[in-house]
Amino acid sequence: MQSPGRISCNPPFFATRLIGHSQENRPLILHYTPRFAAAPGGTLFIGGMHGDERATVLILLSFLDRLRHGDRVDLTPPALGVLPLANPDGYLHNTRTNAHGVDLNRNFETGWSAASTEPPGGCPWSEPESRALRDCILSQRPERIVTLHWALGELDADGPQSTPLAMAMWNALSPNQRALYRLRVSGSRQVSPPPAVCPGSLGQWCGEGLRYPDGSAPAIVTLELPHATHCPRPPSLPADHLDYLRIAWKRDARAYLEAVEGSVHSMLRAAC
Ligand SMILES: [Zn+2]
Repeated sequence: MQSPGRISCNPPFFATRLIGHSQENRPLILHYTPRFAAAPGGTLFIGGMHGDERATVLILLSFLDRLRHGDRVDLTPPALGVLPLANPDGYLHNTRTNAHGVDLNRNFETGWSAASTEPPGGCPWSEPESRALRDCILSQRPERIVTLHWALGELDADGPQSTPLAMAMWNALSPNQRALYRLRVSGSRQVSPPPAVCPGSLGQWCGEGLRYPDGSAPAIVTLELPHATHCPRPPSLPADHLDYLRIAWKRDARAYLEAVEGSVHSMLRAAC
């Protein structure tokens, strides 16, 4: 398996910037195009917020690689930032949480709840990783954010401003690929059942809490990779589906990645 430490994305197309450090002092590295750095706006992709959702990290690294090696997007470099690994300590320890035992995707301010089922931290922004991500978003003010998770097999849009982004990503899929995902768009009849409440998630903060100085808010889509690569997403996943995935990942990670790359890369390109 590819280790994140071995990856480097260098100029001319991507530069890198340190946006902070994890609890255990590992670097949080943003890869970005010159157009992304030149002005507010653009698209920010985030992977590995849950450290054990390893496919999200490797998919973003392979997407970066493809952009650097001749994908058509190269011809018109997008304003694009990529944070492949938002929780490096969790990735190393193969845990959902950071080294403090906090679920970073419950540590954002909007809707934060001490009663969250997953450990939310002592207060909003208690963790260095969530603060670094907050500060990166506040300083860059991306127009679109896609945060990758594994593996509910869905596109989940928070806030009404996020619907066009979710639809663009959905429309990039072939009918066969769509069968692997479910589309969940706030305030739309396409939601069934209604979106689950994730108190203190990045999606809640960007979708409902965060406003830039000009009053606008970023569009945000949570892209949950599919739980399987060949059969339609069932209406509800069995409670033990994550355990099943972890076993399957150990056995056949490469085959899983190769099978999902097509659909995920199409959606990422549509979000650029
Ligand atoms: Zn996740």
